[in-house]
Amino acid sequence: MSQDVDSSALRQLLNAQREDSAIARLTHRRRSLEEAKRLEAVLAQLEELTADSAIARKKSDEILRQQTRLEGEMEIGDAKIEREEQRLFSGGVSNPKELGALQAEVEMLKRRRAALEDDLLEVMVQRDQANATLEALESEGAQTSTQAEELKATVSSLTDEIDRELSRHQTSRSEHASVIPQPLLELYESLREAKGGVGAAELQRDTCSGCHTKLPAREVERLRAEGNLQRCDNCRRILVVT
Ligand SMILES: [Zn+2]
Repeated sequence: MSQDVDSSALRQLLNAQREDSAIARLTHRRRSLEEAKRLEAVLAQLEELTADSAIARKKSDEILRQQTRLEGEMEIGDAKIEREEQRLFSGGVSNPKELGALQAEVEMLKRRRAALEDDLLEVMVQRDQANATLEALESEGAQTSTQAEELKATVSSLTDEIDRELSRHQTSRSEHASVIPQPLLELYESLREAKGGVGAAELQRDTCSGCHTKLPAREVERLRAEGNLQRCDNCRRILVVT
């Protein structure tokens, strides 16, 4: 392309580069928000707590079913004992052998009832423990859920803020780019893509701000004298003498 580029287009190119760098910084920031990472971790924790709560609830329900079954068995046992004791004491059974058998039956029923009662007490202790675990998990889950909601709101407000800034920089970038000749803009774009986001660099004293290389005094002298479109000998970026 022609070397004949006026200095105002080159200054606009530096302005466009500044906006492009700001856009790249903001885009990176938007993708790597600390709060978004924390939100991800909190959501994973919440998922784990929800799964643990479901397991604890299932266990608690299972224990309740055991308790209900034991209570039912005890009720049936009590009724049987009452019936047999009534028979025993009503005087309806007088045969000693039959009476002895009935007595043994009542004793057996009472032993079974005592065993059921022991089982029931144990199940009730288990149920208390299971319920305490479930309550603790649910309470932690509720807290974690609140934390997640708060972080979601923070991430959303930070993202909105970044988006507003991005939009400002994009508008400004378009304004600068609109007065840069198309071939220069294309060269800049391809260099920017190839060189880590920086296609145009300013000559600061005797140093290229793109690769931070100090240029020989004669080269600096030549660049300042010639103006126009120049490239850094070292990094090949567009070098703008301001
Ligand atoms: Zn350079």
